Amino acid sequence: MLTGPALARFQKSLLAWFRESQRDLPWRRTRDPYRVWLSEIMLQQTRVAAVIPYYERFLERFPTVKELAEAPEDEVLRLWSGLGYYSRARNLQNAARQIVERHGGEFPRAPGQALALPGIGAYTAAAILSIAYQAKMAVLDGNVARVLARLGAVRGDLRANGRWLELQKTADTLLDEEAPGDWNEAMMELGATLCTPRSPQCLICPLTGFCEARKKGLTEEIPAKRVKRERVEIALAALVLVDARGKTLLLPPPQKREQAGAGEAADVPTLVSRMWHFPTIPVRREAAKVELRKFAQTSIFRGGKCGSEWQALKPVRHAVTFRAITIYPFLARAAGLPRIAGTKILPLEEVSELAISSLTRKVARAAEKAI
Ligand code: SF4
Repeated sequence: MLTGPALARFQKSLLAWFRESQRDLPWRRTRDPYRVWLSEIMLQQTRVAAVIPYYERFLERFPTVKELAEAPEDEVLRLWSGLGYYSRARNLQNAARQIVERHGGEFPRAPGQALALPGIGAYTAAAILSIAYQAKMAVLDGNVARVLARLGAVRGDLRANGRWLELQKTADTLLDEEAPGDWNEAMMELGATLCTPRSPQCLICPLTGFCEARKKGLTEEIPAKRVKRERVEIALAALVLVDARGKTLLLPPPQKREQAGAGEAADVPTLVSRMWHFPTIPVRREAAKVELRKFAQTSIFRGGKCGSEWQALKPVRHAVTFRAITIYPFLARAAGLPRIAGTKILPLEEVSELAISSLTRKVARAAEKAI
């Protein structure tokens, strides 16, 4: 563990490199807690390049916490549409409402209060509070853990019992308390740009002289590969009903943990991201059409005629963590669409303007092409 002058040299090297070489990203041009917070949430599980346009559009529409808190949820989800992991958007808005109600519209400075907000965990709280308020809190995420593990030649699964806590202690010890925000960003930047999972660029790394993995020739072995969860294949079938005027029917966002309605299986709400969606059910691949037809007959048309022509559309594939989802969409033409409370009937080409998941968007596009 570095201490005294060696620690000071280490900190100076990293900060100097960061201040010189950091990428120019929109959220780095501000210390405004709302903007820092938004960027941290959007960047979870999502690449920087994908986040930038969403971040800018979102701020254009919701420039303050108050405006976000007061917006209809549908609009927030629409602006998030395509970014994935929609619970982030819901938590963000719920947290915005709490901030307005309980903290006078300002992101709380106290770690306990920040952690009590929906969607804020230890990493996110440390990142926001250190960058926006210079709180002396060290961040630890996957990028930082990799850098620390290599610096200390830590072997084994970094998320295993006790090891993550040890890494957090190391991160706390190394934190530059004079500039905690810059320090945290510098550690993350190093992990994202030079100390990458494969082929780290040790020759130009500002910490090369401090790195045990580099000295021992272990940079490719650390961190140890995680055992990947086995892939699960999921088959769904979606029904795009279209009437003579080109209108279609969508089901509303299912409530969390709500008993599946209208014949939906319980895991479908998760898969359609709790947003507006075409009637969708889990099926056996080889019986997709038969099972969807039966579902339409009983749950959508309630015994009435469920459309004469059924056309199989190109299957849509999507991966969510360990799940490989294939949707088998069917376009069914019906003389009229059933009136069901809570559903939406709208022109097919307007579906993409709603808050929908990218899966639903792909299904809508496939149907539009076929018409
Ligand atoms: S020397 Fe290489 S392995 Fe060590 S911190 Fe720098 S980039 Fe990572």
